[in-house]
Amino acid sequence: MGTGKFITRFFTAILLVASATAAVAEAREDVPIAIAIHGGAGTIEKSNMTPEKERAYRAKLEEAVNAGYRVLEKGGESLDAVIAAINVLENSPLFNAGKGAVYTYEGTHELDASIMDGRDRQAGAVAGVKRIANPINLARMVMEDSPFVMLSGAGAEEFARSRGVAMVDNQSFDTEQRRKQLEKAKEKLERENKQDKDYQAAVDALPIRYKMGTVGAVALDKNGNLAAGTSTGGMTAKRYGRIGDAPVIGAGTFADNRSCAVSATGHGEYFIRYNVAADICARVQYQDKSIATAADEVINRVLKPIGGTGGVIVLDPAGQVSLVFNTKGMYRGSRTSTSPVRVAIFDDEG
Ligand code: ASP
Repeated sequence: MGTGKFITRFFTAILLVASATAAVAEAREDVPIAIAIHGGAGTIEKSNMTPEKERAYRAKLEEAVNAGYRVLEKGGESLDAVIAAINVLENSPLFNAGKGAVYTYEGTHELDASIMDGRDRQAGAVAGVKRIANPINLARMVMEDSPFVMLSGAGAEEFARSRGVAMVDNQSFDTEQRRKQLEKAKEKLERENKQDKDYQAAVDALPIRYKMGTVGAVALDKNGNLAAGTSTGGMTAKRYGRIGDAPVIGAGTFADNRSCAVSATGHGEYFIRYNVAADICARVQYQDKSIATAADEVINRVLKPIGGTGGVIVLDPAGQVSLVFNTKGMYRGSRTSTSPVRVAIFDDEG
């Protein structure tokens, strides 16, 4: 090859490498990242809320969204973003998860949580734990550091201890507001003299604000991986080791990169029976529906007519967010690479 030809080829190769590098950089900028969170659904009405309380809720929701988004922005994984957002809500007494968890009938706290990785459907969950400050972190340990998917009660705590997790007193989850809710709930149950067989009906009859307030997050990272997580104290006055949908994979939490990521909040028994989170993603995957259509069908057309109250946050692999509920309100928030942080509480907010 003559020197002239060699020089031409050499520079052509450099140009090709340079333009390929530029294309990758451009594509990276276009890659969507997104997070959405919830802090529970229910009878949340402006008339029940002081302006200070409303401000406090909005500020905490925004803090949680931003905590998760920061992880994604730095190139972190969706699982880490989900954990970061949920930890903010678990550590706040405003929400029914971690500190601020509702009381059981016996006056204690039993916490449930689960997490799922959309890459490979790995999942971890804990149910009925009493001494774990951040149950979502333990759920992740179950997923990553055990051959199991779901651990419960004393066994889950033994596993936590074996992995060096600090135990906290059950009373550290106490809050005055939740204690009052338990007293009201018990008064109502006892006034109506509900026996065990009618217990579900009595709990159903309680105003929703006594029962709900789970937290959850869904995230999409720059590698296109979805993740979902949910953490809760369950429902006020729950008994007999009752476990809701939050730690049940497919019911309260689901993530699969081929369809969507979902975290749910609401009356857990319905969400378990109707396999809500997985059903939404199945409609997306097998019926080619958008997440907005699939979530609306399940929440408003399947659950609502049978009395299943609650809502979901849903995220798809393109970074689209859908927040759907059939109650008066749902504490919620989101931020994506194309839309700034947004938080909302009531049903008449966009
Ligand atoms: N889904 C939760 C449960 O049934 C409660 C909630 O979302 O507020 O335990």
